[in-house]
Amino acid sequence: MNLEIAPHAGFCFGVRRAVTEAERLLAEGRTICTLGPLIHNPQVVASLEARGVRAVSSPDEVPPEATVLIRAHGVGRGAIERLASRGIAVADATCPFVKRIHALADAASQAGARVVVIGDREHPETRGILGWAHGMGRAVETEEDARTVPLADGTLVVAQTTIPQTLFDRLCGILQSRGFNLDIKNTICQTTPVRQKEAAEIARRSDVMLVIGGRNSSNTRRLYELCRAICPRTYLAETADETKNLDIRPSDHIGITAGASTPDGTFKEVVTRMSDIKNQEQEVLQETTAEPDFAAEYEKTLVQLRPGQTVTGKVVQITDDEVCVNVGYKADGLVKKSDLSTPDVKIDDEIEVEVVKVNDGEGNVLLSQRNIVNRKVWDAIVAAYEAEEIVKGVGKESVKGGLIADVMGIRAFIPASLLSLRYVEKIDEFVGQEMDLKIIEIDKSKKRVVASRKAVLQAEEAAKKAEAWDKLVEGEVVKGVVRRLTSFGAFVDIGGVDGLVHVSDLAWKRVGQPSEVVSVGQEIDVKIIKLDRERDRISLSYKATQPKLWDIAGEKYIPGTIVNGKVVRIMPYGAFVELEPGLDGMVHISQCAPTRIEKVEDAVNVGDEVRVKILSVDTEAKRISLSIREALADDALANVEADEFAIPEEPAAEAPAAEEPEA
Ligand code: SF4
Repeated sequence: MNLEIAPHAGFCFGVRRAVTEAERLLAEGRTICTLGPLIHNPQVVASLEARGVRAVSSPDEVPPEATVLIRAHGVGRGAIERLASRGIAVADATCPFVKRIHALADAASQAGARVVVIGDREHPETRGILGWAHGMGRAVETEEDARTVPLADGTLVVAQTTIPQTLFDRLCGILQSRGFNLDIKNTICQTTPVRQKEAAEIARRSDVMLVIGGRNSSNTRRLYELCRAICPRTYLAETADETKNLDIRPSDHIGITAGASTPDGTFKEVVTRMSDIKNQEQEVLQETTAEPDFAAEYEKTLVQLRPGQTVTGKVVQITDDEVCVNVGYKADGLVKKSDLSTPDVKIDDEIEVEVVKVNDGEGNVLLSQRNIVNRKVWDAIVAAYEAEEIVKGVGKESVKGGLIADVMGIRAFIPASLLSLRYVEKIDEFVGQEMDLKIIEIDKSKKRVVASRKAVLQAEEAAKKAEAWDKLVEGEVVKGVVRRLTSFGAFVDIGGVDGLVHVSDLAWKRVGQPSEVVSVGQEIDVKIIKLDRERDRISLSYKATQPKLWDIAGEKYIPGTIVNGKVVRIMPYGAFVELEPGLDGMVHISQCAPTRIEKVEDAVNVGDEVRVKILSVDTEAKRISLSIREALADDALANVEADEFAIPEEPAAEAPAAEEPEA
């Protein structure tokens, strides 16, 4: 004999929620009433009744001190209002899926639309939904109903959550054929089709099919009918005792499922009983090998969960606020929409979720998808921190002392001093700006991240510098830009690194201030004199790229030509005349004036601007001989010649006298 147990058997999460809520209220010592039986399982209802949970048929029967527990399939608006008017405490365990239908019916009817509920008109859920339709609602149960129910454009069509999809489709088809513009919402709870599909598959493989659950549960009945249509030896049992005398043979493959209102205890009891029968058979067969305990096997088929665990589950239901996920556990899991990282999930999607709580207090598993994303992001941040990687961030808001940046969706703080290489005056300028950051501090417990932009800039600068240093060769001439002037020289940027041109290396002549030779921003050629990588110093020379004055003096100052100069020094034997900065010539005393003079000062003084004739240039000896006397003579001769060859001006002709006009 083999046993096959349906993974989705027993309480759906809506029912589980209601039963858990009842347990909670009982534990608080409350007097509890329900409007009708809490769930469609007589054993559970009897057990609750034995502990004081009383089912009443109307709000008026509720004793004043009692708390009314609203069952999973909800009640109409009128019942809620009546309880409120009597001041009765209410604990609402209406399943969120059903509540959503109430909200749809309420909104549509308030807007003046008709409401059609496809389902069993006597079912408490259908009656509850109609109770939210402000008298505008009708139940449609049969094809005849669908053909005759009053309709209008904009009529809202919803489904009782547990009806078969085929029935809904068929009746909707008839409604649509009547030519109205209908607002059809498929509100069938997906836990039912999932359970039914699974049961049908097991029934196909089984010789005997056991459906466990209350006979008045429409959900259980449908499951039974569905399985019986496939497997003729299908039995419906409300309790384990009812499985005692079933026609079961040793060779049978037995499938077991249960309706949505069947408690775990009853289900397990049936599984245990089947397991016992199986073990007895084994004993009869005197098999020596230990066979598995099917009850234990059943437990084993259920996923074990713990908080923080990541599991993959299938989306089985979606409401306005929550997504219900089957993770293979005995209870379905709920993800709040705010905890979804992919909000466009659809039914049957497989999603990865993290278990937040195995029991949220209502019997459901609390799940989160966002926690996984956050954890992955956090792991990525920690990895980037440990590997000292650069991460991208976007400035979000300036706060006291710095900037908050978004790094992979996590808030990271950048102190103002670490925003830039230089002092930042307006932190606001970084809001909205994308930047490279280095994570410099992490507090895992507080989920705090501190980042630095400055560290990235410093690293970039260091890399640039290293690259620039690698290209530098002593003795080479490179281009540079004067960045800064000081009293001792000029700092020149030669492609990412600054070198110093000492004042003595600025020009061949003596220089007082560097500004006499270069200015900030000027592009110049410089020669690399010395590289000291350890001390991070580069010595440059500007003058080395300039020609020496004496090298070109022979070409520039041709004997016989007359040039201007300035007397800069007087010696007993003559006067020194500066032809250009750094290049002086000497006028011997005998050449200082046209006539003989006693001393040089008789002809010239320091500071005088003079015209001198180049007598000779000796670049080897660095000597230039000059003559003022000859320059004067040449100038005088030139003046005479100019006078001689000048064309005398014609005297101006006298203008004729104006004739007297005739009288
Ligand atoms: Fe809610 Fe679906 Fe269960 Fe009904 S069957 S109580 S709608 S989960």
